[in-house]
Amino acid sequence: MFDLIAFDADDTLWHNERLYQMGRDRFRELLSSYSVQGPIDELLDQTEIRNIPFFGYGVKSFVLSQIETAVKLTAGRISGHDVTALVELAREMLTAEVELFDEAEQTLAQVSSRYPLILITKGDLLHQQTKFEQSGLKGYFQHLEVVSGKTIGTYRTILHKHRVEPSRFLMVGNALRSDILPVAELGGWAVYVPHELTWLYEEVHLPEGLPDRCFEVERIGLVPEMIERIARERGG
Ligand SMILES: [Mg+2]
Repeated sequence: MFDLIAFDADDTLWHNERLYQMGRDRFRELLSSYSVQGPIDELLDQTEIRNIPFFGYGVKSFVLSQIETAVKLTAGRISGHDVTALVELAREMLTAEVELFDEAEQTLAQVSSRYPLILITKGDLLHQQTKFEQSGLKGYFQHLEVVSGKTIGTYRTILHKHRVEPSRFLMVGNALRSDILPVAELGGWAVYVPHELTWLYEEVHLPEGLPDRCFEVERIGLVPEMIERIARERGG
């Protein structure tokens, strides 16, 4: 029933958001010596989201937004030493070890034995390629797609390139906004694997529940069974 199955990477196959939480903790700590006023986390989020069209997603964008927010909140008093600490934080985040979720590898082993797989991840090219190399999961995928955003247009381009009809494509991921809704709108299938930590920007409220052709499982280990169930009940 499927000609191609794609997985998201960050917070679908390996930990990611908790690294950003560590980065936010570090940022609050750093600003504590400046007695700044205002909701630090909210201001940082707003700056980061405002910067997406210019800097894209990822660690570099995050830390540039931290620097911008720190300059604003301290009215320019932030020291060169502390700016350097934020640049160090970026390096630390960029070189953090890739930690796979339990069952991620066995899931890919199972699904790749029946379907061709690709990985579709958004963010910084160098960082995403590095994580892919380090993950030990490379062998399960036929292709890596690093994109700057995940819109309907992005998925249309990828499917066109791989000559796959949307109705024969399925995407697995943890972000409704990026992994599930655009694929559903294009006419594809999606399996949503929610993660407890999700960045505010990716949160979408769905009063009507998931769209047609979208399914939810509790954890990545249940994905192979769900794919087979969809193929059995909805295929043909
Ligand atoms: Mg993700």
